[in-house]
Amino acid sequence: MSQLTIRPIVTGYVPTYKKQYHYHHSTHAYRNVDDTKLLLPAIVYLIEGGDQLVLVDTGMADTYRADKYHHPGSIQPEGFAIHERLAQIGLKPEDVGLVVFTHLHWDHMYYMDKFTKAKFIAHRKEYEFALDPIPLYYKSYEHPALGIRRPFEGLKVDVVDGEEELMPGVRVFPSPGHSPGHQSVEIDTAEGTYICCGDSIFIYDNLDPIPEIHYNLTPPARFANIVECWKSIEELKARAKAREYILPSHEPAIEELLKRQEVIPAPRVR
Ligand SMILES: [Zn+2]
Repeated sequence: MSQLTIRPIVTGYVPTYKKQYHYHHSTHAYRNVDDTKLLLPAIVYLIEGGDQLVLVDTGMADTYRADKYHHPGSIQPEGFAIHERLAQIGLKPEDVGLVVFTHLHWDHMYYMDKFTKAKFIAHRKEYEFALDPIPLYYKSYEHPALGIRRPFEGLKVDVVDGEEELMPGVRVFPSPGHSPGHQSVEIDTAEGTYICCGDSIFIYDNLDPIPEIHYNLTPPARFANIVECWKSIEELKARAKAREYILPSHEPAIEELLKRQEVIPAPRVR
């Protein structure tokens, strides 16, 4: 039986609007969507219990960078940077053997240079697009045209092309749509297989059908390719045993879960 556990780590908060991010415009009338601004957590996941420590994404940038170049109003509170978070549980970035990226947007790949011993893995399409994005995505990928240095600059990033086992109990599979080479990570645990799905969905509501308009899900409003995005959410729903086995990067319910338990699955009480 797999001994792997998954530890959600919040690296900061990003303001988003429901209409711009969480719900596609065609769904607004059916999902009671208003203009509320929500501060969403930026979550990474540490996989413990295997031969090496695996980190799914490295999280968001510091407040200055995030606020200036990305979403105004973003905050990375004191002690929330990924290396500071690791220190709080007695770990150093050098202890991490493998960093697998769901995608290479700014809120998922900051502080890469701290992980001096880790192998970095991204999907080939994502890495290639990150190196040469269309101008619309210069900010998302921190393009040098902005006068800043990309976190992956000068670092070796290994690429995968499809579904692949990274180590026993940990696999990646493609889930494009939010970005061209987005991928998700499946982790086998004693309680079943969990999926770190990155930004395939922003919130659990994206999984809900809307029967009135024949939708089998509620598409989000931000994507590079809506057809791929839709099919990736269908794939996610097909693979996951239940909703709680899906671990998105920005779902506030994960932060709520953290108030009750530090790792997934929760340790059994003996
Ligand atoms: Zn994100």
